[in-house]
Amino acid sequence: EALEIERVHMAIRMKKVREGKDCIIPYEIPARVGFLGLGIMGSPMAQNLIKAGCDVTVWNRTKSKCDPLISLGAKYKSSPEEVAASCDVTFAMLADPQSAVDVACGEHGAANGMSPGKGYVDVSTVDGATSKMINGHIKATGALFLEAPVSGSKKPAEDGQLIFLTAGDSSLYNTAAPFLDIMGKSKFYLGDVGNGAAMKLVVNMIMGSMMASFSEGLILGEKVGLDPGVLVEVVSQGAISAPMFSMKGPSMVQSLYPTAFPLKHQQKDLRLALGLAESVSQPTPIAAAANELYKVAKSCGLSDQDFSAVIEALKVKLQHQT
Ligand code: NAP
Repeated sequence: EALEIERVHMAIRMKKVREGKDCIIPYEIPARVGFLGLGIMGSPMAQNLIKAGCDVTVWNRTKSKCDPLISLGAKYKSSPEEVAASCDVTFAMLADPQSAVDVACGEHGAANGMSPGKGYVDVSTVDGATSKMINGHIKATGALFLEAPVSGSKKPAEDGQLIFLTAGDSSLYNTAAPFLDIMGKSKFYLGDVGNGAAMKLVVNMIMGSMMASFSEGLILGEKVGLDPGVLVEVVSQGAISAPMFSMKGPSMVQSLYPTAFPLKHQQKDLRLALGLAESVSQPTPIAAAANELYKVAKSCGLSDQDFSAVIEALKVKLQHQT
């Protein structure tokens, strides 16, 4: 075990050196780490933990998604409860509030396997109320809870370059820090449970509106005879340039939407952000309009495409009009 931990130490140090950061690791590394939810994000995150030498135990609702990780050396347990019972720190990367609650608090859920000395880190994007509810269930067992939704998509997850927006037990933040450093490039500690969720929802509300607006621009430009490829290039050189536009624009021009961030999750985040705004009586008219466009896209069968496929919802409308 000591050798294993030294190997993980070394992996983190080397990653920090590659990133040009201070490579001192001021914390102990827990021995066993669990990972629940191996979708687009969870799989590469768990993979990076395994590659760094961590002792990883995985579970996923669809068992076949565990197989590539088991091949890389992960252990497998057949329920979240068993994973939590056999690990010091357990991460969860689930689709939405319902699945996050089911996996944490349901029958054979992680809470059943938690006890004092253990920690549960939920990295799914959910609303604050859901996060607080999960926190309550985990804390009732004597274990610690940290919410830690991530900023960054499939590629940053693969590259260990995510940004963690954490809140909850600060001692678990310190315990989980080596793992966050393996999977990410930075981490913020934001205080009480709910603040991480709120930060993530505000960021994704902005992102959803940006993508909807970019889509409108591309469609309008094309309709008035502009070359959309040139438009993407012009945007990329000006003050409104964004990595997201440069990354997604060229494939959007070709009507290709390889899924990095599923459209259904972007609409979920807008819905949750609108709920957050409602809770404090804050008008968010742009996000509300964008949310409607994503709902149209979902009704067109685009839920599992990348969220940039929202542009297709505008094409549908235009076809109806002409
Ligand atoms: P995904 O590919 O759709 O994966 C969702 C995961 O949740 C899968 O492991 C899925 O299991 C599991 N799941 C869904 N419903 C479940 C249920 N009822 N019970 C148990 N497990 C269930 O999504 P993702 O892109 O990895 O995103 C995961 C979370 O991260 C979401 O909250 C998303 O908003 C957030 N996020 C995503 C990105 C991104 O770019 N993709 C970036 C930042 C944050 P199965 O395999 O059995 O379906």
